[in-house]
Amino acid sequence: MVCVGARCVCGRPLAVVTRPLLPGGIPFPTTCYLTGPEAVKAASHVEADGIMQEYNDLLSSDETIRAAYERAHELYLAFRHELAVRLGDDEDHIEGISAGGMPVRVKCLHALMAQTLVMGPGANPIGDLLLERVSQEFSPTICRCAPEE
Ligand SMILES: [Zn+2]
Repeated sequence: MVCVGARCVCGRPLAVVTRPLLPGGIPFPTTCYLTGPEAVKAASHVEADGIMQEYNDLLSSDETIRAAYERAHELYLAFRHELAVRLGDDEDHIEGISAGGMPVRVKCLHALMAQTLVMGPGANPIGDLLLERVSQEFSPTICRCAPEE
C-alpha cells in the first residue's frame, strides 16, 4: 500500500493505492483497491444481482459510455505509471493492464468503485453509475460505518 486513496467522511479508509510491484516482486495491477467494508458489501450486492450484464450491454450499445470507459482505462494506466516511476517499480508484467475488465468489459465492480472513489466523479462512467445505484447502501459522503469492535 502506498497511501489511503479515499476516506469516508468519518476518516476511515474506503480505498487504498497499492504499489505496482508488491514486496517479493509480485506485479499488482489493481492500483486502486477497495477496502471499506460497507463499500465492498455494496459492490458485492450489485454483482450478485447480475447487474454487470447490464453494464456490459451499456458498453456495447452506448458509444459515449464506451469512449469514457476507454478514457478511464487510460487514466488508470497513467496514474499507475506515475506511481511506478516515483517508486522505481517495474511495470513490465502489467503494462497495458488496468483493472475491473477495462477497457472493454465490466468484470469487477469493486475495482471500478475503487477507481471512482480515488479519482472522483467523471473518472469512470461505470463507477459513477455504480455509486449512484448503491447510494442508499453506501456513499462516500454519508458515514454508515459499523461501530468499531
Ligand atoms: Zn464512516
